[in-house]
Amino acid sequence: GEFTSKPDIDASRLELVKNTSPKSPPSPQSLVFGHTFTDHMLAIEWTLADGWGVPKIMPYGPFSIQPSSTVLHYCQSVFEGLKAYRDENGKVTLFRPDMNMKRMVRSAQRVALPAFDGAELLKLIKKLVALDAHWIPQVPGYSLYIRPTLIGNMHALGVGPPNKALLFVICSPVGPYYKNGFKPVKLLATTNYVRAVPGGTGSYKLGANYAPCLIPQAEAMAQGYDQNLWLLGPEHHLTEVGTMNLFVALKRDDGSVELVTPPLEDVVLPGVTRDSVLALARDHAAGKLKLNLPSNLVVSERPITMKEVKAAADSGKLLEVFGSGTAAIVCPVKAIGYLGKDIAIPVGEQGMGPITKTVLDEIVKRQLGVVESDWSVTV
Ligand code: PMP
Repeated sequence: GEFTSKPDIDASRLELVKNTSPKSPPSPQSLVFGHTFTDHMLAIEWTLADGWGVPKIMPYGPFSIQPSSTVLHYCQSVFEGLKAYRDENGKVTLFRPDMNMKRMVRSAQRVALPAFDGAELLKLIKKLVALDAHWIPQVPGYSLYIRPTLIGNMHALGVGPPNKALLFVICSPVGPYYKNGFKPVKLLATTNYVRAVPGGTGSYKLGANYAPCLIPQAEAMAQGYDQNLWLLGPEHHLTEVGTMNLFVALKRDDGSVELVTPPLEDVVLPGVTRDSVLALARDHAAGKLKLNLPSNLVVSERPITMKEVKAAADSGKLLEVFGSGTAAIVCPVKAIGYLGKDIAIPVGEQGMGPITKTVLDEIVKRQLGVVESDWSVTV
């Protein structure tokens, strides 16, 4: 038959139903991460027969969903997380939102959910954020956490690609990840569970990747650690930290400093923050940017094992370890528990080493527009 393409997401079709009983945003100090939501949300339905429907911004509130909905049975759910910032002049910006749109489409396709035009969804997210911009605390370190989610919503128990889906976006005002200053964390290098395997789904942002990590996280905490360090394979390759990407700084024999992050392959989530750290560090190493980083910095995406980390620590060559992610930006690591012993990592008096600190400062400057960059997108 003839090929007819179904309607994609079209921001110009937006229908807006304003919340007639808006709330007053709570004081920034009282916010708990992800517990408070703004007055509005965005929702767009998709059907196999008719493609993407009319985008609607409406009052934040519950959905009605059939008990047979496939998301409730087979975890057809993908999501994203990005932040909006508001400066003292009221200007609202997003940080690299195009990366989140691309990743969301890629995640959707992995679990047979419908793809969509990310640029159109971004236009709609900007409208939603602009409408609720007064919810973004104008306090340094505070922002609006934006959570786009796409679920399969077929009303049938058959396991198969859904014939209905629902995309929605909710927004939550959030404070700095570390309320009382940066607190370096202790990781448990986890050898009895894996987060992701080659050929699996670890490099996609699927809801299904997160539930299996809750028990390992609770067990790590019961042993006195903050988060899991996820390993892979018999050589215990490092992959990620909790819900963050991982960076290790090592002193090399020739006196240079190597900043290592594990390669993405298909077990590591391609983090927006990871990509930003790599871009900044590489620009510095290439002399395109002058940052407060070692002058002889080498930036590597390469496999790294616990054996190498332990040997580096034993010979004083392990300089810094940090996680990277949207929520915390960076998270310094002060120790890794491995096979019953703790490997200590220097964090200095500031709670983080100089490389971690520079990376944090440079990313924040670009998020807030203190340093102009095309990473910052005006709403
Ligand atoms: N890894 C995992 C498993 C994550 O959930 C996240 C958070 N999205 C990250 C890494 C960091 O990604 P990003 O920098 O895009 O927030």
